[in-house]
Amino acid sequence: MSVSIKGILKLVVAVIVLLVALALAGIYYIGAWHILFPSSQHDTTPPQISADLPSPSILVFSKTNRFRHKEGIAGGQQALADIARAQGWGMFATENGAVFNPADLARFDAVVFLNTTGDVFNETQEAAFQRWLEQGGGWLGIHAAGDGSHAQWGWYMDNLIGAKFIAHIMGPQFQTASVLTEDAAHPVNQAMPVQWQHEEEWYSWESSPRERGFNILATVDEDSYTPVAKLLNKERDLRMGDHPVVWSNCVGEGRAVYSAMGHRAEAFAVSDHLRLLTNALSWLMSDADAGCGR
Ligand SMILES: [Zn+2]
Repeated sequence: MSVSIKGILKLVVAVIVLLVALALAGIYYIGAWHILFPSSQHDTTPPQISADLPSPSILVFSKTNRFRHKEGIAGGQQALADIARAQGWGMFATENGAVFNPADLARFDAVVFLNTTGDVFNETQEAAFQRWLEQGGGWLGIHAAGDGSHAQWGWYMDNLIGAKFIAHIMGPQFQTASVLTEDAAHPVNQAMPVQWQHEEEWYSWESSPRERGFNILATVDEDSYTPVAKLLNKERDLRMGDHPVVWSNCVGEGRAVYSAMGHRAEAFAVSDHLRLLTNALSWLMSDADAGCGR
């Protein structure tokens, strides 16, 4: 039997092509496609929204032009749909950024950024959302809404997030930690335990948004988990000292709440977390005199 050099070369090329295809499929599967190839795709044709949308209604937006939390988005959509049904609210979920126009936004009382990543809007859509929020809208940002992929949108970073993301824990990536309720009298913390346990991919920021005047509603106890990022035997200390995980802010007459929790679908099965999300949405849509000029 004789094996030609040409035959061996063909085999090597075939194996390399197969390995590259497998690697790309793996990258796509874990949601990291747009980390390698960031997208700046913006939508221009709004989705059709049912004419009989109830009042109040929430708009759940989960467009991902960077990392995609596939499970966190699916689990979050399910949980938010369950909350909306139980509370008698309407809900419309979309990944189409063109819904951020004045006429469509006027039909909603709160907007949720559910693990949105990257540059998701054109300038007209950014301006429409800013105006809607400042005139009395409500915004809830979940997990990746506060990661480092939104830096190009200055107003969003300054008014809704207020902190510069540095990294999430890696070592291990998911850890159970103690969440400490702060400002217990705030409507977002209604009936929340003083302290509760939650398993999460905990984020860290350069400094606490408290320093910029944001209202801190919960912190994570850094002694209850290992706040480090381990990569290739290198360890990075992710301790912040003051380590908020839920905070709010007034944006004109609008209200904003950000929560760092919600990487995995399992996060949306934790009853304390669901209570927090329900409270946050209730406060964002409330006309009661409980902050932010209302
Ligand atoms: Zn995550």
